[in-house]
Amino acid sequence: MSPGSSSASSPIVPSYQEAAALVGKYAARISGEPRPTERVELGCASGRVLARALYADRDQPPFARSTRDGFACRAAEASKHRFLNLVGSSRAGEAPAGPLPEGAAWEIMTGAPVPAGADAVAMIEHVETSGKQVRLLPPRKLKAGENIVDQGAQAREGDELLPVGAAIHAAQIALAASCGFATLKVFRRPRVAILTTGDELVPVESTPGPGQIRNSNAPMLAALVAAAEGEPWILPTAHDNADALDEALAQASQADMLLISGGVSAGKFDLVEPALARAGARFHFTGVRIQPGKPLVFGELPIRETPIAQNEYRTKCLFGHPGNPVSTAVTFLLFAAPVLRALAGSTDQGPRFALAKLAAGTDAHGKPGLTRFLPATCTFIATTGSGIAGKYPEVALVPMQGSGDLVSLARSNCFLVVPEDAKSLEAGAVVPILLY
Ligand code: AMP
Ligand code: MG
Repeated sequence: MSPGSSSASSPIVPSYQEAAALVGKYAARISGEPRPTERVELGCASGRVLARALYADRDQPPFARSTRDGFACRAAEASKHRFLNLVGSSRAGEAPAGPLPEGAAWEIMTGAPVPAGADAVAMIEHVETSGKQVRLLPPRKLKAGENIVDQGAQAREGDELLPVGAAIHAAQIALAASCGFATLKVFRRPRVAILTTGDELVPVESTPGPGQIRNSNAPMLAALVAAAEGEPWILPTAHDNADALDEALAQASQADMLLISGGVSAGKFDLVEPALARAGARFHFTGVRIQPGKPLVFGELPIRETPIAQNEYRTKCLFGHPGNPVSTAVTFLLFAAPVLRALAGSTDQGPRFALAKLAAGTDAHGKPGLTRFLPATCTFIATTGSGIAGKYPEVALVPMQGSGDLVSLARSNCFLVVPEDAKSLEAGAVVPILLY
């Protein structure tokens, strides 16, 4: 039996790739489901997902626009270097003017409409003026179209600019504004219940007694949920007993998605799986061959038989995260975040991986049968200029005292991925990293 595989009596524990494929398939399925929508002001749209495609209300740009301060002219005439008569001037905001007579030029500012008849703009730095005349300085020549963006070159009136499912951030807000949208139709954020479990947990405002710790997973998961297009709903922490968990799960079933932290390992007080089973949950997997995060649970709560209201989501998926903070963060990023983004209607679901080079002094050890995700810092060094081919950002491990090490997690900006079959990774190796 290979390491990590299960005995005949316990369920097969999938590898990272297998679990990711399963989650990907699930995400693809829920992506196609109808979901509730709402309208938001443009100023509040960042981080939301577009529910109606964005169309161009007019040509973009709406008129042939100059990209430079200079002189609109005919390229062929200007390239002969004869003086051209200055016959007009246009600044940004003025209506398109012209026509430009033959043998003439037209003063123009960046963003102004190019006068009819002109086919190029000579940059102010490239001409000499004399009285009411201007000429292109030899030996420079002008090509037709130079320093002009034609009307409709970026998009035509009625073109689809952004599809349903596009994530909205600064650039998309700017584009919507340019098309006259003061509000956008977006998908309602799935409400994600966050249920932390553990007798040892006290709220952040409390002073922990002997053996107690503060609940750090609730605010961490809330932040992760918000970053993945969900609306976090923190429930009271549940104690490690069956009644408390049953009660908490009944409340949590009001949410569109459920994240549980703690109580999914094999210990005497890990009672979450049986409680989920009592609540009618169906499990897709109850472990993944990863470290940290091996006891991760992925399943679904039953949905009510009654017809679904307009503003409800159709599935109630759930993740049971191991309680150690690094495990919680890793398993959320790898599995829960893509499902949440899919539920939220986003077509950009992640997780996001990149390649980096292991920094000098760093080596990482593999664990047979487990894909490892280790807190690391990646230095995203400048990759502009010549001689950059084959250069990678550098990644270094952050020292970590096990998967409860929040200090290490908070000092990291990515996770180094050690593949299941890697014995060790040495300094200089090109390795995958998980971004967050
Ligand atoms: P569990 O998965 O319940 O066995 O918990 C594993 C470890 O994570 C234990 O050391 C817990 O004290 C810790 N832990 C569980 N839940 C939280 C939480 N909400 N915040 C911080 N640490 C937690
Ligand atoms: Mg616990």
